[in-house]
Amino acid sequence: MEVRRITLRLLIALTPVLIGCGTSPSTPATGERIQQHQGTGPIRVVCTTNILKDLVRQIGGERVQVTAIMDGPGIDPHTYTPSPKDTNALTAADLVVYSGLHLEGQFDEALESLKFRGIPVICVTEKLTQETPSRLIQTEEGAADPHVWFSPDLWSTCGECLAEGLSAYDSENSEQYSAAATAFSEQLAQAKHNGIMLLARIPDDRRVLVTAHDAFEYFALAFDFRVQAVQGISTDSEPGLRRINQLTDLLVERRISAVFTEQSVSDKNITALVANCASKGHTLKIGARLFSDTAGAEGTPEETLCGALLHNITQIAIALSESPGDIIMNDTEAKTQVAP
Ligand SMILES: [Zn+2]
Repeated sequence: MEVRRITLRLLIALTPVLIGCGTSPSTPATGERIQQHQGTGPIRVVCTTNILKDLVRQIGGERVQVTAIMDGPGIDPHTYTPSPKDTNALTAADLVVYSGLHLEGQFDEALESLKFRGIPVICVTEKLTQETPSRLIQTEEGAADPHVWFSPDLWSTCGECLAEGLSAYDSENSEQYSAAATAFSEQLAQAKHNGIMLLARIPDDRRVLVTAHDAFEYFALAFDFRVQAVQGISTDSEPGLRRINQLTDLLVERRISAVFTEQSVSDKNITALVANCASKGHTLKIGARLFSDTAGAEGTPEETLCGALLHNITQIAIALSESPGDIIMNDTEAKTQVAP
């Protein structure tokens, strides 16, 4: 597994009214009684990414009304800076949900401001950071890889974490949140099983995923791939020529047939790889654009995490399989199989 260096910024300690795993209204982590949801209407939740929007819907059901600040497939959460309008949306929420592990690299100040307003916040990766031993992938510099959503096992834990946080804030409906987390966990387990079956058509020597940035390490662990990315776990620094040349050599040597662009990252580095390989007589095709840090647009099948995962699995299987015709012919069947 390749985990390259990233530049660590000096991170501001975040201390909003954090509720989540292991907390309850009677035993809050902050030492104060956690505010309870008032009234019978839905909880107005504002979250950062649209992958979280799906998670909040899955766990909160009819009890929540959720909006995402970064609500689209082309938005890069590593570099997105919240506008004053975004900050206003966060401060108008009943409850704020974010992914954490510094995915939302420019949100520190906006999240920090919530503590002064007493707005409860749930970080869905909190439970993962508390685990011993940790299932989080660490970089050489000790930063945890934030791209946990394409690991069905880890995202299931994030669902449990969210259910606990919602239960702390809205204890009357805690059984509903707990049952939803269990159902979502089963849905993810089924998606993982079906995804493994579909990707089994790719032979071992082709199970290398070359992508624009390093967002697929957890996916690789879950589905038995090796990952080579042009950029690191964040998109906030450009790769050097050396990295491009390293990847070109690897692609040519192993005769890897396809690389992948991403919805939320520029294509220019992947395009450079294709040109480099062509100059060395190796034809490299660009597979379909993968969802990495965002799910699809509202109203599409890929707006859910499982839908985006299915898209990625199907497209990877088509691009890297020895007989992609089978998969294209059976695409409808495959979608039926993978989508729980
Ligand atoms: Zn990313």
